[in-house]
Amino acid sequence: MGKKVKKKQRIRKRAGKKKKRKKKPYVVSKFYKIENGKLVRLRKFCPVCGPGVFLAEHSDRWACGRCGYTEWKTVKATAVT
Ligand SMILES: [Zn+2]
Repeated sequence: MGKKVKKKQRIRKRAGKKKKRKKKPYVVSKFYKIENGKLVRLRKFCPVCGPGVFLAEHSDRWACGRCGYTEWKTVKATAVT
């Protein structure tokens, strides 16, 4: 009796199909809007990092991804001790 030959693992070759992860480019123009020739900012700037750093808008707050600053949309944010 000869040695049992291991079953060859099937290697599925994807014919030229490569899944590429689509990277979302950081689009700054998304944060601006031109209305009647005027530049309107759609996003808030971070008061800690200064102008140029936008706050990410969430459903209930704005948050800075750089310093962690969070601004709540609700009024209770003002009552921070
Ligand atoms: Zn910040």
